[in-house]
Amino acid sequence: VDTSDEIGDLAHTINTMAEKLEKVEQERHHLEQVRNDFLANVSHELRTPLTAIQGFLEALQDGLVEEEEARQKYYAVMYSETMQVNRLVDDLMDLMKLENNEVNLAKFPVNVGEVINKVAFSFRAEAEEKGLQIAVELADELPKIYADKDRVAQILKNFVKNAVKFTEKGEIRLIAESEDNWVRIQVVDTGIGIAADDLNRIWERFFKVDRGRSKNNKGTGLGLAIVKELVELHDGKWSVESSPGHGSTFTVWLPTITAIRQTS
Ligand code: ADP
Repeated sequence: VDTSDEIGDLAHTINTMAEKLEKVEQERHHLEQVRNDFLANVSHELRTPLTAIQGFLEALQDGLVEEEEARQKYYAVMYSETMQVNRLVDDLMDLMKLENNEVNLAKFPVNVGEVINKVAFSFRAEAEEKGLQIAVELADELPKIYADKDRVAQILKNFVKNAVKFTEKGEIRLIAESEDNWVRIQVVDTGIGIAADDLNRIWERFFKVDRGRSKNNKGTGLGLAIVKELVELHDGKWSVESSPGHGSTFTVWLPTITAIRQTS
């Protein structure tokens, strides 16, 4: 028996084990970091509206707001900040359930055109208030997709809500076309656009471009993270293209019913 060989083997085994332990430790550290970042983000997003509500309430309580008109303004701000807290909690719950695979989709053959028309209709008043047009462009004879209708509407609402929010003039187009075994849906705006460096990050939870200056952005920063999860649950694909100052195009591909029949 060659003992030097055995000792060499043993040393090798110990080294491999040490490396594995090191990896586990790194992974644990990473998960802890992710968890801490998440909690810091939730706290920040909750604290911003709560601080505003507290400040306005204190001013009212101390009798500092004498004019009835000013008082009404304070109430309005407090109301809208309360809504913001509610939106955040709703989005958070939704995202958590999606990420933990606790969402069952009710998938049926869906007429995409109907969903798009409904979503366009629900945003038309808000868009027109800003002087924006919403156009719907549907290809003839679009195949049906196999999807959860309400969730597809939710995906599109998130895109259109952003398009309206980040566009000052021009129009928002909702386009649907068939492409191989997919239906491709696009939301195209003529808004502020997104810089190349931020383009990948917008799908991360809580990411908002230019956070400092986006105090007026009443979003939660969770919309696109939710979209990503929903598209994945539909076995779909997503992408975004943007040209700062000119506009953005958000695209999703959802499988048609024939694509589903072929794979199952
Ligand atoms: P939010 O609730 O802030 O809208 P989202 O996850 O929906 O959160 O979007 C993340 C960020 O991506 C937004 O805060 C914004 O900076 C950027 N963004 C999303 N859609 C658009 C768009 N159509 N035009 C310009 N910027 C956009």
